[in-house]
Amino acid sequence: MKKQDCIICRKPLKDGIMINGRGICRSCEERLINADVDTDFYEYYKDCIKRSITQNALKGEEITCQNYHL
Ligand SMILES: [Zn+2]
Repeated sequence: MKKQDCIICRKPLKDGIMINGRGICRSCEERLINADVDTDFYEYYKDCIKRSITQNALKGEEITCQNYHL
């Protein structure tokens, strides 16, 4: 199996979930799950995941979502 990085924090993926072939690590997954659906945080991560999947598919580029500050 190919090694994956978390698409949100970019750490090597040891466990977690996969969305459309993109990995999200356990801690980011938990942050997502615990985040309120109405919050910026949730919207940001949702958007980030979407962009990551889309950009990767279109350009073969990786993007990161580390610039988000709570
Ligand atoms: Zn992560």
